[in-house]
Amino acid sequence: MTYQVHIIGGGMAGSEAAWQLARRGVRVRLSEMRGSPEGDRSPAHQGDGLAELVCSNSFRSDDSDKNAVGLLHHDMRQCDSLIMAAAAKARVPAGSALAVDRDVFSAEVEAALAAQPTLDVVRERIDTLPAEGLCIIATGPLTAPALAERIGAATGADSLAFFDAIAPIVYRDSIDMDVAWMASRWDKGAEASLEMGGDGRDYINCPMNKEQYRAFRQGLLDGDKTVFREWEANTPYFDGCMPIEVMAERGEETLRFGPMKPVGLDNPHWATPEHPNGRWPYAVVQLRQDNKLGTLWNMVGFQTKLKHAAQVALFRTIPGLENAEFARLGGLHRNTFLNSPTLLDRQLRLKSAPSIRFAGQITGCEGYVESASVGLLAGLMTAAQIAGKPWTPPPRTTALGALLSHITGDAEADSYQPMNVNFGLFPPVDPDVKKKQRKEAYTARGKADLLGWLPTLA
Ligand SMILES: Cc1cc2nc3c(=O)[nH]c(=O)nc-3n(C[C@H](O)[C@H](O)[C@H](O)COP(=O)(O)OP(=O)(O)OC[C@H]3O[C@@H](n4cnc5c(N)ncnc54)[C@H](O)[C@@H]3O)c2cc1C
Repeated sequence: MTYQVHIIGGGMAGSEAAWQLARRGVRVRLSEMRGSPEGDRSPAHQGDGLAELVCSNSFRSDDSDKNAVGLLHHDMRQCDSLIMAAAAKARVPAGSALAVDRDVFSAEVEAALAAQPTLDVVRERIDTLPAEGLCIIATGPLTAPALAERIGAATGADSLAFFDAIAPIVYRDSIDMDVAWMASRWDKGAEASLEMGGDGRDYINCPMNKEQYRAFRQGLLDGDKTVFREWEANTPYFDGCMPIEVMAERGEETLRFGPMKPVGLDNPHWATPEHPNGRWPYAVVQLRQDNKLGTLWNMVGFQTKLKHAAQVALFRTIPGLENAEFARLGGLHRNTFLNSPTLLDRQLRLKSAPSIRFAGQITGCEGYVESASVGLLAGLMTAAQIAGKPWTPPPRTTALGALLSHITGDAEADSYQPMNVNFGLFPPVDPDVKKKQRKEAYTARGKADLLGWLPTLA
């Protein structure tokens, strides 16, 4: 068979992209290295099945009325997602979460793809970027090294991160601004800030006194941490990506001279007649804006290997973050991803080589569902291109559209890190909607707008 599209990687994204194309009659070659005669396998995969879940068996919340990932499930189902259909068949009880039997799930995906007459699954490792024809690269966070090198060469070495350190991200509206305050250190960078539309006070600062700082450092030292796997232990950190608990181990004052440095930050909440501008706290936790909407704020320098529950408990002891809601928690593991906002166009195509699309976690989304959803979109875009039809992107108010917009240009390129879908990526709903009803407002709007968009796929 001659192929119209070559998909590399039969994981969550590649399988979904292959399905979307094949069911539209497009001839597809899907290359998956696992199961090849050479016995290739990433350090995390255990078997040869397509769409293998490498860690947990959960697709997280299935509540499409109140939860952003639940809404993404909904959007994918409306687009006849194979991953969602296989998950339904493999579902196991897990409360409001969508969890699956991973073997049944993978077998369902394999069977559905095998039944497609225009699709060939070929067990082979691909080491170079295809020189001609349309291609979707969906090789995931653990892309085999030779191909990763080629992608690095094609995109610029600095653009392909081989290791990723993640700091937590907090929803702006969950930060107590009666305690925290906006300021830049020494008011520096005001000019640049004004150019970017800011007002010169670009950071949210959370103050700590001496006792709070000491207790916090102790919490970092004592907190429950994830242990590196053997293969991860050999991967170097990027400069400046030292986990915060490792810094805390280095000495009592290391953090105060590092990410928690208080100098040049007058806290106006502590103003007195003698110090009308306020005083410097003993230590400071800074948050930097993470998206154009200003709804998400990144904890600066707080990349961490603390387990998620330990992070939530400890970070909520930070003054101003007592009620913090986290759009993403920190983590540190090897992870290959592109600086997509810079490198990809709005249709996930490499700007420098538009016949190549990227899909899945390599684009900088995070999570099984998100990876599959970007595969779904890449499949739909490629199908439209082959059919010579115009592509209409899903509205940003839908979960599919919010994630796609973030990846393909709306995220800040300088601080781009893998991201789960969350309501901070959506345009805000009417501020008059009561806080308690906002989640429902996001999902109701998203569902209505998706309905309006679906006919564009016909
Ligand atoms: C260790 C680890 C644990 C994770 N745990 C979770 C979790 O619990 N929950 C969650 O939601 N997300 C988790 N993720 C994040 C992410 O959601 C998954 O990695 C997800 O599977 C990504 O989907 P993908 O399709 O982009 O990549 P993958 O599902 O990894 O698929 C990529 C496929 O490409 C193949 N491949 C790679 N290179 C080549 C090549 N050169 N030629 C041919 N084939 C190739 C691989 O064998 C693989 O099958 C985890 C990631 C890692 C690394």
